[in-house]
Amino acid sequence: MTKPSPGTVRTRFAPSPTGLLHIGGVRTALFCWLYARRHGGTFVLRVEDTDRERSTDEAVRVILEGMAWLGLNPDEGPFYQTKRYDRYREVIANWLQTDKAYHCYCSKEELDTMRAEQQARGDKPRYDGRCRHGKPPVAGVTPVVRFKNPYEGEVVVEDAVHGRVVFQNKELDDLIIQRSDGNPTYNFCVVVDDHDMAITHVIRGDDHLNNTPRQLNMLRAMVGEGGQVPVYAHLPMILGPDGTKLSKRHGAVSVLEYDRDGFLPEALLNYLARLGWSHGDQEVFTLAELVELFDIEDVNKSASAINPDKLAWLNQQHMLLADNARLATMLGPQLAAAGLEVPADTDLVAIVACQKERSKTLREMALASRFFFEAPQAYEEKAAKKHLAAEGQAALQAVISVLEVLPDWNGPAIHEAINALAAVQGVGLGKLAQPVRVAVSGGSVSPPIDATLAILGRAETLTRLARAAVATL
Ligand code: GLU
Repeated sequence: MTKPSPGTVRTRFAPSPTGLLHIGGVRTALFCWLYARRHGGTFVLRVEDTDRERSTDEAVRVILEGMAWLGLNPDEGPFYQTKRYDRYREVIANWLQTDKAYHCYCSKEELDTMRAEQQARGDKPRYDGRCRHGKPPVAGVTPVVRFKNPYEGEVVVEDAVHGRVVFQNKELDDLIIQRSDGNPTYNFCVVVDDHDMAITHVIRGDDHLNNTPRQLNMLRAMVGEGGQVPVYAHLPMILGPDGTKLSKRHGAVSVLEYDRDGFLPEALLNYLARLGWSHGDQEVFTLAELVELFDIEDVNKSASAINPDKLAWLNQQHMLLADNARLATMLGPQLAAAGLEVPADTDLVAIVACQKERSKTLREMALASRFFFEAPQAYEEKAAKKHLAAEGQAALQAVISVLEVLPDWNGPAIHEAINALAAVQGVGLGKLAQPVRVAVSGGSVSPPIDATLAILGRAETLTRLARAAVATL
């Protein structure tokens, strides 16, 4: 594939809103977006909503919100195919006039008989072109319109991922491009749009590879012999972790659920980029790096299976790279979703700072932060036995006495005070920190104790320590 000159690339993402946009579609969108960005080109969003029975407003909403959440913003669009019917009719009228298409009056019964006869002969069922060859119109029947596919020769797809794929024209029949109800059909609309939107690179799932020869023949009918047609790149499927077709149970759910589950958009994009594409051994990529490094020729041919553990790991890596203030704005809704009441003066940035190394997702962070907002109802049994027995409770009394009189309430001051107390008592820090941890959080796992107490505030800290210091276990 020759390198496109800067600014000339035009890609499109063309989802059908018949199901909720999931990670398979997002990966296609990402590769289209990356390729356009990489070459300083244009990324077009086109909603293929001509299937009125199966398209839903909810699916359109998920496409628009999902793309916005991911930052895969189109340079042009969204365009809706249902708004382009006049244009499709115009092309059909033109093709009828110029003998590129014809009316077909065959009834369903006639087509059924034709198919049955072909099957009985052991032939592949296909329309035999009888109306193309002068079968007379049938009065009272509204005809469909068929495209005159070439009978001879082959269609060569130089696919950027799969390489050269050759189809024989004799395997393709004359496709219906307009139904008898006047509506244009799917493959035809794609062709008119790719032509009108001057798409240079069609990047899509390889379930569309078999549509490509038909589309190429129609595109050639539009651009004329020697006219420019797009480069095609068919992306391999994404499979479930068990290697079977991706389904809901594998995470083929609305992309917005990843937001609800506390994933960062850049982590999901990084993960999806690596499904089928690689750059050496590198795993963690910023979006800017992906834009710089991505090339369609480096996409693998074979399908890849999703791996939820790897996504969670990457999410953590991106949380570590992310700005704490930004993460704090995302943590707020997660805390609310966990049913927690967050006082307006809560320092969420401080919570993020001490939690982000130990959480894989923002949801996990919110759940692990419950104790900042609610005093523990009970202590974990094992932790309490170990750290809140007589010795632990004595330690708590001692900690209370130094913290009560601490002039400044902040992390370093708390750290110093507890360290000094440990030194005076001649015990390891853990002897004091662990009882404190269980007293304030209910368990033996929490962020560093100084940061934790600083966030909790003096009054709440002392209340919890005092309660644990006299708790009967
Ligand atoms: N609308 C098609 C789909 O959602 C994609 C068509 C294309 O990319 O050409 O599968």
